[in-house]
This record gives sequence, structure tokens and C-alpha cells, in this order.
Amino acid sequence: MIKFEDVQKVYPNGTVALKDINLEIQQGEFVAIIGLSGAGKSTLIRCINRMHDINSGTLLVNDVNVSQLKGKEIREFRKNIGMIFQSFNLVTRSTVLKNVLVSSVPDMPLWRRTLGIFPHEDKIRALEALDNVGILDKAYTRVDQLSGGQQQRVALARTLARKPGIILADEPVASLDPVTAKSVMEDLRRINREMNVSILLNIHHVELALEYCDRVIGIRQGEIVYDGPTDVVDQSI
Ligand code: ADP
Ligand code: ADP
Repeated sequence: MIKFEDVQKVYPNGTVALKDINLEIQQGEFVAIIGLSGAGKSTLIRCINRMHDINSGTLLVNDVNVSQLKGKEIREFRKNIGMIFQSFNLVTRSTVLKNVLVSSVPDMPLWRRTLGIFPHEDKIRALEALDNVGILDKAYTRVDQLSGGQQQRVALARTLARKPGIILADEPVASLDPVTAKSVMEDLRRINREMNVSILLNIHHVELALEYCDRVIGIRQGEIVYDGPTDVVDQSI
């Protein structure tokens, strides 16, 4: 469960990005955060895995008080949280399989990583994740030879290989064409259902949020202005 209690986030330059956020997300929910550019969507998502520190209030993730985590605890905590970005954040000159392996085996010594020596069971897990998102046949292809949709699937596989309880996705379909965007949303929904993973994503395409997610949270100038199921959403937000 993710729980925000009166959370505030103020950037060092004084920008108040989140004001008194109160929010509860249960395990297995598929939630879209919508709002205009600058509303605070990305900040909200990034507080959950401690990419940003909050300034006041309490943020609990599975009963862990995120603000109190230190160094090694943060790394341990993040193992349960997958992160997906608009820009995929892949090593484009590496193969698909290597991209999945390198980040899904985070504790491996650098020399083994550099030589590309990965434990057999991790390789199997990585290949399973690639199969899950339909790009197993691209395992030995270099990432820069793939389409945008395929690259986002690599990022998704990389996250899935770690078997996270939570996936945070910052505009995962923003750079994709409409058809590919829909297919990635379909993958996310299927993964949400099959793995009971909580998925929280930022999206500026309201129609996609309504079509695929179960719940939508609207934010404006750092405040929640709507929170409800997608089947009864007020189209005017
Ligand atoms: P969104 O994801 O909805 O576009 P953001 O969370 O990125 O919104 O930004 C919320 C507000 O915080 C905006 O006013 C933005 O300019 C500001 N902001 C975001 N990141 C920083 C930062 N690192 N330093 C200062 N202000 C920031
Ligand atoms: P994206 O759309 O991919 O979230 P942004 O342009 O919103 O990218 O932000 C890119 C980076 O710049 C983020 O790390 C964000 O925190 C930071 N940022 C956004 N707005 C500001 C701002 N007003 N001042 C400083 N940093 C900012």
C-alpha cells in the first residue's frame, strides 16, 4: 500500500510542487495520474521511490516510512519498485538481453557485468520477462535497432525481471505513436492483472487513462482535484 498523509514537496528554488497530498493506493491497483504540464505528476511519482525527498507530511510504502530510509536501506527499498520513463533509459548500444540483465541483477560485481557473465537463473528470468512482453525474438538485437514501442517493452521487461510489487511509470507512452501507445497500455494492464503489481503512471492522454486504468487522479498546481474510478470520471477535469 502507498499512503500519502499531508505530503508537501517544495523544490530548493521555492517551487511548491505538492501541497497537502492525501492519497491511498492499495496493492494491485492500476492508477493514472493526469494533469497539465507542471501540475506535479512527476514529482508525486518520484517521491514514492525517494528520487525526491518530501518536505513535510508522511509517505508510507508498505508500512515503511520512506523519509526515514538511509543509504543502503533506500537501495533495498527500491528493489521492490520498478521505474519506467518516457525516454526508456536504455543502453542503446547494448543488446536487449544485456539491458534487462544489467539492471535486474543490481548487486553483481562490476567485472562480471563488464564481461557479461550473468547467472543462469537470471538469464532465464530475463528471457521470461522478454517473452512476457512479446520481444523474446529480439533478445540478441541491439536496442538502437528497435522501434520506440519495442524499446519501451525492453524497459518494461527490465522492470518485470525484478518482480516488483510496484511499477512507477513517468509518461510511459508519451513518445509513442497512438497505436503503439495503446498496445503498451494493454501490456501494462495485463501485467497489472496477472502479477497483482500496483502500477502508477503519469499520462497526459486522458482518453488512454480512462480506457485502460481503473482509477484516475487529477492534479492541478500540486493539489488533487479529482480521485475516482475511470468508469464514472468527470470528463471536464
Ligand atoms: P508534471 O510532471 O505534472 O509536468 P512536475 O512534477 O515535473 O510536473 O513539476 C511540478 C512543478 O515543480 C513545476 O512547477 C516544475 O517546474 C517544478 N519542478 C519540477 N522539478 C523541479 C526541480 N528539480 N526544481 C525546481 N522546480 C521543479
Ligand atoms: P519530463 O517531462 O521527462 O518529466 P521535465 O522537463 O518535466 O521532464 O523535467 C526534466 C528534469 O528537470 C526533471 O528531473 C525535473 O525534476 C527537472 N525540472 C523540471 N522543472 C524544473 C524547474 N522548473 N527547475 C529545475 N528543474 C526542473
